[in-house]
Amino acid sequence: MTVNVTAILTSIQQLNPAEKHRLREYLIDALTASSSTGTVLEEISERKHKAGYRCPACESQHIVRFGTYATIVDGEPVKKQRYRCKACSITFTDLTNTTLYRTRRLNQWMKFIECMLEGFFLRKSAALVGNVTHVTLFYWRHKLLSSLKQMEIANFQGIVEMDETYFLYSEKGQRKIRDRKARKRGGAAKKRGISNEQVCVLVARDRDKVTFSQTLGIGRLTKVQLHNAIGHKLSKENVLCTDAWRAFKTYATEKGMPIYQFKSDGKVRTKGLYHIQNVNNYHSRLKGWIQRFNGVATKYLNNYLTWFQVLESVHHQRNEVTINDMIIKGNLIPSVETYDTLRLSKFTN
Ligand SMILES: [Zn+2]
Repeated sequence: MTVNVTAILTSIQQLNPAEKHRLREYLIDALTASSSTGTVLEEISERKHKAGYRCPACESQHIVRFGTYATIVDGEPVKKQRYRCKACSITFTDLTNTTLYRTRRLNQWMKFIECMLEGFFLRKSAALVGNVTHVTLFYWRHKLLSSLKQMEIANFQGIVEMDETYFLYSEKGQRKIRDRKARKRGGAAKKRGISNEQVCVLVARDRDKVTFSQTLGIGRLTKVQLHNAIGHKLSKENVLCTDAWRAFKTYATEKGMPIYQFKSDGKVRTKGLYHIQNVNNYHSRLKGWIQRFNGVATKYLNNYLTWFQVLESVHHQRNEVTINDMIIKGNLIPSVETYDTLRLSKFTN
């Protein structure tokens, strides 16, 4: 059979928006169904155990095979190996401490990640993934993101742009708010300026797009927070470009790093190669994107920052490899979160 791709593309152009929408949903379904979860499982297992088997509880290397467990791979039920630690007697599998543990339907995970990359809301994602509620998907989302956010970034090279931005502290979704009355969604802070109602988010980015983006704490950025957050990624070889906030200046001076500072009045935007326009643009894209959630609970803010970072990095290369990669990366890093630890957690920073 010969397929005239040009003809297909031409007919797609003629579809109305609703039809295009249906086509996209069809493609997500068709493409993720054909991707191989078996390969993903194998790669997780191989990379996780590249130094041999180790007990996830006591680190002992005295491991024996211990029966099998049933799971579904590529739509087929299969038996996978279970292991037992001779030292402490616990049993475990390749997926213990990963987001896939107890998740028997890997295909659903792939579809869900595709939905996350598409930016679909949870209810819509639930309909596409099938056999799962949007509440479960909320939990999947945060389990995956709390694994991904532990990934170490590379050290910064050369010029590093830094700028802090502030988000209103929010306990959205918390049943009891003891300290003060609930603010309306997306409401304004009562106090003017940067106060303890504001959560500081630092974005630091070098010209290779190595990006740090996390909360530093409540209120104005301090040099100690800066040091704790990214001190180990910086050296005297770096040149800092920041806004005019004095903590940046103090920090750079103490570390012996050159620094270029730019006032927010926008009168001087660049000094040759030096400017903070990349981080400023990153901030505006981030703020625009996060609006869709009608305010996020501060305790989840780092997860959303990670999500946005992933979206930024896969923006131009969304394909099956990326999805597999996300599942593998998300599962090589142990996730200790459970539904309850996520739900009951508090913002600490
Ligand atoms: Zn053990």
